[in-house]
Amino acid sequence: MAIWHTKKDQPDIVPRFMHWLEQRNPGETEFHQAVYEVGINVLPYLRNHPEYMEAAIFGRLTEPDRIVSFRVVWEDDNGKVQINRGYRVQHCNAIGPYKGGIRFHPSVNQSILKFLAFEQTFKNSLTGLPLGGGKGGADFDPKGKSDREVMRFCQAFMTELYRHIGMHTDVPAGDIGVGPREISYMFGQYKRLANQFTGVITGKRLAFGGSEIRVEATGYGTVYMMEDMLATHGDTIEGKTAVVSGSGNVAQYAVDKLIELGAKPVTLSDSSGFIYDPQGIDCHKLRWVRELKDVRRGRIQEYADEFGCEYHAGQRPWKVPCDLAFPCATQNELNAEEAAMLIKNGCIGVSEGANMPSRQSAIDLFQQAKILFAPSKAANAGGVAVSGLEMTQNSIRMSWTRDELNRQLRQIMTDIHARCERHGRESDDYVNYLKGANIAGFEKVAEAMLAYGVM
Ligand code: NDP
Repeated sequence: MAIWHTKKDQPDIVPRFMHWLEQRNPGETEFHQAVYEVGINVLPYLRNHPEYMEAAIFGRLTEPDRIVSFRVVWEDDNGKVQINRGYRVQHCNAIGPYKGGIRFHPSVNQSILKFLAFEQTFKNSLTGLPLGGGKGGADFDPKGKSDREVMRFCQAFMTELYRHIGMHTDVPAGDIGVGPREISYMFGQYKRLANQFTGVITGKRLAFGGSEIRVEATGYGTVYMMEDMLATHGDTIEGKTAVVSGSGNVAQYAVDKLIELGAKPVTLSDSSGFIYDPQGIDCHKLRWVRELKDVRRGRIQEYADEFGCEYHAGQRPWKVPCDLAFPCATQNELNAEEAAMLIKNGCIGVSEGANMPSRQSAIDLFQQAKILFAPSKAANAGGVAVSGLEMTQNSIRMSWTRDELNRQLRQIMTDIHARCERHGRESDDYVNYLKGANIAGFEKVAEAMLAYGVM
């Protein structure tokens, strides 16, 4: 199928593009959704940029540079042979080596990884750092597996992946189901196979090339983004009630920063349900959650038993009244009905810690209600930004201090906010952060691709 060419003066530019994309990538619904979310802003913008249009830049960006898919075979504790499927989507290296996390979750498939890699390209561009976009993972479920099983899986996964990555080629990191334990096993196996100690993966432990603030960066960044959005209205985080979903890395550190800034986070969730603690989650309770999730690997329901609050099985937290909402679990966890509920209950701002957690219909409602809405590619970019700083520290064989890295993270989030504001401010002064993030992220990548010529 020929590459799609946008033409000037086409009023139906977005539906026509989506028709072409959907035919070309049948059944990849998450990927269609992610491209639509960017295309809705970038395609109309192209009308004033014939140079990008003639070079078919946006169409080219919907085709990853390459996708590697491979068999991962490992043995469980009972000696039974297990088979999983691994992937790496190397989406675009126009402005730097491919960079993006690895997800281990039973739902992982090509569509989900293509959406994540596509998003990652624009997000990485927005950070201002020289990072391309990629994403990888496997349909492996770490839940209920012993440490040794996870180790054997990670080693088998890296045994194939190692030939496709490198510190100047492709630098993976963590994501859902991949935390410091999994990163350590994978980095150890890479080092053994390549016989090289290089910064080939980020999110490493501090003892072997990790960076201060990396573990906190995504959650902190998501709250910093909200802080900057509120400041445009002369408002602050202090005293606000916040609803947070998830209870993994991003959710935990979003709650941590919210507590530090004087907000009251009242919910956490996992894939089984959510807890509602009207007293607020404080530092002591958060430490307990960290132990529950990162060490004992238990369920969030135990929080309700421990601290005597409500647990809502099989539900998501968006019906709880709040000022601010932070979806930090997974894609498509907030639909139009839930968005309407948030708005009705007085929510004034949403900052997306997870990737694409809000459905397009929910985003439409946030924007119609003119509440503050920071899309994931801006709001959760702090994680990859500090990963970029980890790469720099590995290259210069130095480690910066926690204060220095937090200062750099804070500045990067402020710069991202400013880029979104510059391209997203509308005639009535409302800032469409999604539009701003899409256009600012696209521009830098497009300029590089144009300069390289047709390839
Ligand atoms: P974790 O694995 O640490 O935590 C994921 C959390 O989300 C868990 O509480 C998990 O619950 C919940 N969750 C996962 N899948 C579902 C589901 N289908 N329905 C409901 N809840 C679910 O992952 P992270 O915190 O690292 O990642 C969370 C989100 O943030 C993802 O969208 C990720 O892509 C994004 N992100 C992460 C970055 C990072 O630095 N870690 C960087 C940028 C974005 P359960 O335990 O029951 O599965």
